[in-house]
Order: sequence, then C-alpha cells, then structure tokens
Amino acid sequence: MSHGDDDFARAMAAAYRLSTDWLQSLPGRPVGPRAAAHDLTGVFGGPLPRTGMPAEDVVEFLARAAEPGLMAMPSGRFFGWVIGGTLPAALATDWLVSAWDQNSGLRYATPAMAAVEESAGSWLLELLGLPTDADVGFATGATMANFTGMAAARWRLLANAGWDLDRDGLFGAPRIRCFVGRERHDTVDLGLRYLGLGMPQVVDADVQGRILPSALDAALAAGEGPALVCLQAGNLHSGAFDPFPEAIAIAKEHGAWVHVDGAFGLWAAAAPGLKHLASGCGDADSWGTDAHKTLNVPYDCGIAIVRDASALRSAMGLHTSYLMHDAEGPGDPFEKVPELSRRARGVPVWAALKSLGSDGVAAQVSGMAAAAADIAAGLAALDGVEVLNDVDYTQVCVAFGDDATTRAVTARVIGDGAVWMSGSRWHNRDVLRVSVSNWHTGGEEVDAAVAAVKSALAAVRGS
Ligand SMILES: *Cc1c(COP(=O)(O)O)cnc(C)c1O
Repeated sequence: MSHGDDDFARAMAAAYRLSTDWLQSLPGRPVGPRAAAHDLTGVFGGPLPRTGMPAEDVVEFLARAAEPGLMAMPSGRFFGWVIGGTLPAALATDWLVSAWDQNSGLRYATPAMAAVEESAGSWLLELLGLPTDADVGFATGATMANFTGMAAARWRLLANAGWDLDRDGLFGAPRIRCFVGRERHDTVDLGLRYLGLGMPQVVDADVQGRILPSALDAALAAGEGPALVCLQAGNLHSGAFDPFPEAIAIAKEHGAWVHVDGAFGLWAAAAPGLKHLASGCGDADSWGTDAHKTLNVPYDCGIAIVRDASALRSAMGLHTSYLMHDAEGPGDPFEKVPELSRRARGVPVWAALKSLGSDGVAAQVSGMAAAAADIAAGLAALDGVEVLNDVDYTQVCVAFGDDATTRAVTARVIGDGAVWMSGSRWHNRDVLRVSVSNWHTGGEEVDAAVAAVKSALAAVRGS
C-alpha cells in the first residue's frame, strides 16, 4: 500500500474537521460531560468485530460516539484540578509528531527530533532560571519527571555512600532519609515508592502549606546518613512556594540532595512579576515540571531537569555508571527518562515556546495569576464566601461556611455546567478549588466563574 494513498488523506481530513468542530464548540458548550463512562462502554464495546471498518469511518464513529463523554478541559472555563489547555502551535505540531512517527530515544536515529528537543531544553533552562548545563528529559508527566529526578538523587547519594546501586540493588544499601513538606503532592510519595525508598518523613508546613525551614533543620539533624529533600513550587490548594533560599541552604548544610516538584509552579520563574515566588529554586539539584499544565501543550508531557548529568544518565541510561563514561555533551534522549521508545513529546514544547517567545510565556503565566486574583476578588465580595489562601499565583480555595454548604455549592457549580471547578479538602475543610491553567482564561471567563459560583450559592441558600 502506498503511503500517499487516499486512506490517509480521508482519515486525516476527517480528524481535522472533527477536531476543528470540537475546538469551535468550546466557547459555547457546557464544560462537563453529559454521559458517564458506563453509559458509553456499550457504544464502543461489544464483541470485537471480525471485519474491519475504513479508517475514515472509524474516525467519524469515534468522534460522534465520544462527544457526550468529553469534558471541555481545553476551555477557558475549565478550572478543575491543575489542568492546562493547548496552544495552537503545540496542538498542530503534536499532530505532526504522530505523522512523523519518530521513535525518539536515539540521537542518531531521529536527529531532527533530538535537535528540536535539545533546543527546547535549552530554552526552558533559560526561561526557568535553572543551570544552563543541566540535563533535560521529556517524560510523560510531573509524576515521572519527579521520579526521574529522585532516581538520579538515589543513584548519587548511594554512590557517595560507597554503594554500587547498579550492581547490588537496594537491599542492604544505606538507608536514604527522604523528607517532604506536609502538603507535598501525593505523587512525590508515589515516586519514592517506585524507587523503593519507602515513606518519607513529613516536615511541618505553615498555613499556606510552605515547608517550615526550622522543622526541616530539626528533622535533618535528628538522624544521619544520605538525605533527599523534596521541596515544592506551587501548592495545589494555595499555589504557595516553599521558602527555597532558607530550605535549600539548610538541606545543603546537611549534605542532602534537593529535588523540587514544580509541576505548575516552576513556570512562575518565567514571568518577571512572579519570579520572586520561585527565587532561590535554581540552587536545587533536580526539578520536575509539566509542560501539559501551565505551558499548555497536549498530554503527555512532563520535564525532568537534573544538574548532575552523570547521576541522571547512570540512573536512566543503559550503560552502568557514568562515572566511567563521559557525561559531557548532550547524551541520548533515552538516558534522561524512564522510556526507551517514545514519541517526540518535546516537539510541542519547542513549538509552544517558539510561538510565544519569552514575552509570550511571561504574559501567559502572569495572565493566569491575574485571572486567579480577579476570581478571588470577585468571590470574596460575595456574602458568605471565604477565600482561604493568599492568592499569589494561580490557585484559589474558597469555602462557604460549613462543609455541607461547600459541597452543595460545588455540586451545583459542576451541575450547571457554565464552568467546572474541583471540590477538595484542605486543612480539614471542604473547599471549592479554582485553578487557572489555561491560556484562554480572560476577563469573560473570570466573570463567568464568579457568576457561576454566585448563582450556585444563591440556589443552595434558596433550597
Ligand atoms: C499535577 C501535579 C503532579 C503530577 O503531575 P502529572 O503530570 O499528573 O503526573 C505533581 N505535583 C504537582 C504539584 C502537581 O500539580
């Protein structure tokens, strides 16, 4: 079969048309899905047909059948969890990545992908104020990016303790003491679990969820041996940043490796008006972030950044121990992430940065923070609404008196469909959490958010 044949053209044309229909429906459609997964399994399931269907018809069938079960996550009126939209350049180049179908683990096999991703990596380091010679790997998300950074930490800490991890594994190794703030993201614990490092010691945090440097100092001083400290840029509920200058200085005094989970917060460093929030963060040893959140590229795209290239490549590469190899030079993409075969997920990152420029990234991130501040101000002006956090970044947490009312308002907001916001629990209270993570969220969407909460609250009070 020729690659130029009409099957590709027809299937791709259908996908283009249906994708465009979807994107054009976003401004007007209710945000939530109309159908649940169990309503839809029948449509897609049943016995696997013996005979196939033309590609174009598969595309049509899928798009029509999936439509009721789609959440308008790329809409500017979606404020749930911390979930970004997609920039046009990132989405369109993501299609190209699929069409090119480059297995991007090896530099010599897919040179264009390697070159694009290396440029994206250099741009990111500059933009985020991180050491320009750090290694950058494109993982599936922040969970795996954090895992990757912490895997490099594990390798280096054990090597420094005279333990050959590659040869002898973890059993019998010196114990690595891991420290996290009370309000770290749960996936940090998951990464530590994947790494066989067990449960971390939890260090107390302040009212915004920032780790307390004095408590970190006391925890580190209470024992000895190799230590890994995981800090956070961007608290899920408050948006707060750990006090990096103090916390990193303390960790370094104790010889610890410092990893920063900056899934959405690391991007503050790209905006002149917000970069003070992440100040000092560049003195850590490794960082994990997401491009599919604040930068707004399609899933799945996380970024692992590690200062100590030989530790990273020893942990992730196929050679054992980069102490004996040369960690100079860019290295192969597969040496910096858990995957060997993978799509060129760094290409949409490059495209997003190329289309925005550093001014555009700064404007995007500050626009999100400004929208969050406006939503917080709008909500605080409503009778009976408590804004629970200092809104310095993209997150707003509110409560409406008692938990039952907060839950009812949250359910009402979601049911009404004009906007979508998550319910959560923070400091032993039910909260409604608003996360601004989409480049589309502007004045109109801010007004819609405030109006949606106002009318839900009125409805709950009136019922
Ligand atoms: C989203 C998030 C993660 C996990 O990232 P994934 O991309 O979902 O794997 C980790 N930490 C923080 C702070 C997050 O917001």
